[in-house]
Amino acid sequence: MTAKLTAEAPVRAQAADTLDTYDTAALQQLDAAHYLHPFTDHAALRERGARVIVRGDGVYLWDSEGRKIIDGMAGLWCVNAGYGRASIAEAVHAQMLALPFYNSFFNTTNVPAVKLAALLATLAPPQFQHVFFTTSGSEANDTIVRMVRRYWQLQGQPERQVIISRRNAYHGSTMAGASLGGMAAMHAQGGLPIPGITHIEQPNYAELGQGMSEAGFGLVAASWLEDKILEVGPDKVAAFIGEPVQGAGGVIIPPATYWPEIQRICEKYDILLVSDEVICGFGRLGTWFGCELMQAKPDLIAFAKGVTSGYVPLGGVLVGSRVAHTLIEKGGDFNHGFTYSGHPVACAAALENLRILIEEKLVERVALETGPHLKARFASLVSHPLVGHAETCGLAAGLNLVRRKGATVHDCEAFPPLNAVGMLCRGFMFDNGVIMRAVGDRMIVAPPLSITVGEIDEMVEKIRYCLDLTLDAVKERGLIE
Ligand SMILES: *Cc1c(COP(=O)(O)O)cnc(C)c1O
Repeated sequence: MTAKLTAEAPVRAQAADTLDTYDTAALQQLDAAHYLHPFTDHAALRERGARVIVRGDGVYLWDSEGRKIIDGMAGLWCVNAGYGRASIAEAVHAQMLALPFYNSFFNTTNVPAVKLAALLATLAPPQFQHVFFTTSGSEANDTIVRMVRRYWQLQGQPERQVIISRRNAYHGSTMAGASLGGMAAMHAQGGLPIPGITHIEQPNYAELGQGMSEAGFGLVAASWLEDKILEVGPDKVAAFIGEPVQGAGGVIIPPATYWPEIQRICEKYDILLVSDEVICGFGRLGTWFGCELMQAKPDLIAFAKGVTSGYVPLGGVLVGSRVAHTLIEKGGDFNHGFTYSGHPVACAAALENLRILIEEKLVERVALETGPHLKARFASLVSHPLVGHAETCGLAAGLNLVRRKGATVHDCEAFPPLNAVGMLCRGFMFDNGVIMRAVGDRMIVAPPLSITVGEIDEMVEKIRYCLDLTLDAVKERGLIE
């Protein structure tokens, strides 16, 4: 029997006292029949059926079967304030009644957009006094591509077109975003990257730093930017873009020497520096923006995700004085923008979300309390036989599942990729009430910034238990002695 969603056959089969119940099988069938998910193998999804998430509160989610899950990924790195914030819902409700939409084209503006732009100017590093709003991180990076090229055109150097990015970076899924990103699997579909975008290697010490100190490797990895600038020709390079800590690439934390050296090289060749803070912005690393922790002084910042804690889509570009001055003083019309740039409802959600982050001192807590606690707890997981090494930065953390442990990160023996041990582990996690993401065999977390020390302990205990289950499973399959 195929399920059909109609008024007569609601998916909420019955309402219990506090928790609604759902017809999970019917939802899964309809999902498989009609809903194309992002980044999903649909044949595989159809076989298993999607998990249906129905509710969230704090750091917890509930699925349609009533299972409680601790969300180690804050949705997709975005629910910084945690779930269930009634005050954000109320701010959105009030704004929808007052003014659900008006555009910012043609010399008009709206109150939440003005207030949010002004607030962002106080939270961002001092060179940022201007903001351009989008609805996503991808659109923010598309905006940056157009903006840096426009900047150089206005500077009388229109041949400066090339943007240098890094392998294994994630900058979004639009044509420009995916091109800036350095994901081979994305480039393999649809003729990417678009012209004028080129990549260097990532500052991944575990993968590329064999035989070097971390500090030394940071300088070497930064020198790859200079090599690329010289290869392309310094007069053709417009900008360099990087995430302070690579998120989707697997929480790749660069050595402390990396970003200051990148900064120096950009200055030497007069190249714009772009920090993609879609993940690192709004407290993830214990500073308002990741570039502050990394000691870089970018000209442009892309943001999205945490600005609204995901309650309503919003993104944007913080435009530093160098670019803003040129665009404003010499630019005339910048022929770029979106219907929903500065959407009043999204901006109202952001204002309330940021009020929460400020009032509850969530960013400071990441720096002083929850971040250090997560670091200590993740370090303790390295005693597990499957864990080769673990790294954290603020509330972003990753650990590597390895076939054989070694004395250093470079002596560990990885599983063959086809064993898909990371995916196996992720399955155990989800089934046992904790969400971790698998990037190959690197298991990562980035929980809501509202997580407490006690909830971190609970999360790490669940992780340890699921590592045990994974170890049993790989032994059973003969993947390890
Ligand atoms: C998620 C992400 C993006 C893309 O944002 P969307 O809102 O999904 O378009 C860009 N850059 C980074 C670093 C991201 O993590």
